[in-house]
Amino acid sequence: MKRLAILGSTGSIGTSTLDVAARHPDRYRVTALAAGKNDALLLEQCRAFEPLHAVLADAAAAERLDRNLRREGLATQVRQGPAALEEIAAASEVDAVMAAIVGAAGLPATIAAARAGKEVLLANKEALVMSGALFTASLAEGGATLLPIDSEHSAVFQSLPRGFECGRDGTQFERSGARRIVLTASGGPFRTTPLERLARATPEQACAHPNWVMGRKISVDSATMMNKGLEVIEAHWLFGAALEAIEVVLHPQSVIHSMVEYRDGSVIAQLGAPDMRTPIACALAWPERIASGVGPLDFASLGKLEFERVDPARFPCLRLAAEAMRRGGTAPAALNAANEVAVEAFLGRRLAFTGIAEVIEAVLAEITVEPLASLEQVYAVDIEARGLASRFVARRAQAASHAIP
Ligand code: NDP
Repeated sequence: MKRLAILGSTGSIGTSTLDVAARHPDRYRVTALAAGKNDALLLEQCRAFEPLHAVLADAAAAERLDRNLRREGLATQVRQGPAALEEIAAASEVDAVMAAIVGAAGLPATIAAARAGKEVLLANKEALVMSGALFTASLAEGGATLLPIDSEHSAVFQSLPRGFECGRDGTQFERSGARRIVLTASGGPFRTTPLERLARATPEQACAHPNWVMGRKISVDSATMMNKGLEVIEAHWLFGAALEAIEVVLHPQSVIHSMVEYRDGSVIAQLGAPDMRTPIACALAWPERIASGVGPLDFASLGKLEFERVDPARFPCLRLAAEAMRRGGTAPAALNAANEVAVEAFLGRRLAFTGIAEVIEAVLAEITVEPLASLEQVYAVDIEARGLASRFVARRAQAASHAIP
């Protein structure tokens, strides 16, 4: 019986993870659940899974959850705040941690799980982006296992030889005979939108992904393709591949989730319906295979699979992520923080869609990049970049004479 902590249990990845776990009560016991402020859904999840611990970031929500659990006679212990998150991620009652809190808020608990030697099922790509070298050092320190959840990275992992250890020895990629990673990208909802219309794109349009149902932040990241930029950085740290060996290709159908090309010219790809329960089930049971609830792929009705080059003018965020990766040190943490602020401002209708890349570029031009030495430094850069990004957003809002729809 594997004992699971699901961090971000009320989100898109969290609920899909519970869906898969519920199909296998003989294999998985959910011992801890954590979320931000959605105590109503967390209460339902506590009723269904009766975890030992439930953590909420929001104090008022945690109090409500505690009251409701007591009233119903449920024994789950409610905790609140970031320190509690780190404690449950490292708790002795937990074997595997699903790291599915969105954004930088997920970093400390993910690192805590790595240091405690847990099996870390990593959805929170921001952790590797912000602190790649430190995060992989924590894995080694704790003797933890890292398994990717992102569908692209799960596909790459499944296309690499058995026994490949993610986030460990940087020479494995070379030794495996692999030459190139090809990350596929759907292109999101604006792949064919006329460029002059992008400035007026609304949050509703940006969140209407053609193939995937996801949280709002990652949906906007998919529309700008910052998501793919973060994934390139994530792939570098997970698989030890150089930036030059990672290519992004548009594949609008989202059926091939990514590929590995080998020295002899062979390309191995992983295919499947665009449903996150497949990579989640793959990581939960690895190296075994379990049912995920995802149906068979109907090739005849798929018809054709298409591929296109990425247009850099349409997707400047991909270039910005590659530049931050090349600068190294604290630059990716600054990129991530600036992106989070810009996306939040866009979702709050305080910034135009095209302003997201502009704000990130302005922050990266202004910030001093230093070699990465400690997590404290990552948190400090995160705060500094957020401050800068907020100022750029405010300036833009002041300058904009037209209302954003
Ligand atoms: P959602 O927005 O759907 O869910 C986010 C989760 O994080 C919620 O449970 C939310 O709780 C919780 N949360 C937010 N802030 C805090 C906090 N400060 N402390 C504790 N919990 C918090 O996001 P997704 O599920 O879409 O994405 C989660 C992560 O997985 C992201 O890093 C994303 O990039 C990655 N990912 C997602 C994919 C997808 O298909 N959705 C695919 C690949 C990667 P609450 O509901 O209470 O606010």
